[in-house]
Amino acid sequence: MAKKKGRVFSGARPTGRQHLGNYLGAIKNYVALQDDYETIYCIVDIHALTTVETTQDLRQNTYEMALDWLAAGIRPEESIVFVQSHVPQVTELHTLLSMVTPLGKLTDLPTFKEKVRQNPKNVNYGLVGYPVLMTADIVLYKADTVPVGIDQAPHIEFAREIVRSFNYRYKTKVLIEPQMKATKVPKVLGIDGQKKMGKSLDNHIELAATPEETQKRIMQMVTDPQRIKRTDPGDPDVCNVFSMHKIFSPADEVEMIDTECRRAGIGCVDCKKRFAANLNKHLEPFRAKRAELEENPDHIWDVLHDGADRARKIAEQTMEEVRAAVQLP
Ligand code: ADP
Repeated sequence: MAKKKGRVFSGARPTGRQHLGNYLGAIKNYVALQDDYETIYCIVDIHALTTVETTQDLRQNTYEMALDWLAAGIRPEESIVFVQSHVPQVTELHTLLSMVTPLGKLTDLPTFKEKVRQNPKNVNYGLVGYPVLMTADIVLYKADTVPVGIDQAPHIEFAREIVRSFNYRYKTKVLIEPQMKATKVPKVLGIDGQKKMGKSLDNHIELAATPEETQKRIMQMVTDPQRIKRTDPGDPDVCNVFSMHKIFSPADEVEMIDTECRRAGIGCVDCKKRFAANLNKHLEPFRAKRAELEENPDHIWDVLHDGADRARKIAEQTMEEVRAAVQLP
C-alpha cells in the first residue's frame, strides 16, 4: 500500500439517521479521505451529553449513525470507527489539557456564547470545556490533519494553542499540533429552502428513507418563491431544488432544467419529480448496503468495539508519554 499523507481525525455527535446535509457536508468527504490518509472517525457521545436532555436514544442514535457511515462507504478494515466513551483515556487527557487552558479564552469563544444564548438554563461545566475535549480527541490519536469547514477554523487554531501551551509548559514534543484541512463544504439547505438542513428543524431528507418517503419530502421543497403560477418563468439560481439537481442529476438534464425553468418550459412539480428519481437512483447502492448491514446489528457493534480496541492502543501509548512528560508520580 502506498504511504499515506497523514492521519485524519474527525468526530460527530451521535445524531442517529443521517440526512443529505450530513452526507454532502461530512460523510462524502470521510469516504474520499480514506484513499490518501489513515482515517479515524469517532462518534462523540460524551460531547453529546453537554446538550442532550435525555440519554435514552444515545445507543440507538450511535447505532444508526454507524450504520449510515458504513453503508455510505466508510471501510472499517481501513478506518478506525469507534465511540468516544469506549476509550476513556480521552477524559484523562482532557483533564490534563484543561490545566493549560485559560478559562477566559473558553468563555470568550463565539460558539460558547451561542450555546449560552440557546440554552441559558443549562450552562454546564462540560459546555465550557467542549473545545478542550475536542482537542483531546484529536491529539490523543496523534492526528495531524482535521478536515473542517472554514467556520470551524477558530476551533482548530484553539486546539493548536492548547498543544503549544502543553508542550511548552512540560518541555515536551509529545503532542502534535493538528493542521486544518479546509474542505469546501456546501451549506445544504433544508426543504424550506431557507435554513441549513438539520434534524432539529425537521427540514431534512434522510438517506435511509424509502424512495416513496423521499419523493414525498422532495415534493414539499420550496422553490423560487417568485414563481407562483406554472406559467411564470423561474430563476434556478435561487432555487434549492436546482442546486440539488446540480449535485445529483446528469449534466444534460441540469442544462435542460436551467434553460426550461427560465422560460417556464418545465414546472416545479416535474422538476422535483426528476430530482426525486435521480436522488433515489443515487442512493440505491447505499440503501442496499444498509439493508444488508441491518440484518446483523451485532456486526455494527463488533465494528465499533474493534475500532475502540485499535483506538485504545494508540491512546494508551500517547497517555504513557503524556504522563511521563507531566511527571505524574
Ligand atoms: P456535529 O455537531 O457533531 O457537527 P451535526 O449533526 O450538526 O453534528 O453535523 C455532523 C456533520 O454534518 C458536520 O460535519 C456538519 O458540518 C455536517 N452537516 C450537518 N448539517 C449540514 C448541512 N445542512 N449542510 C452541510 N453540512 C452539514
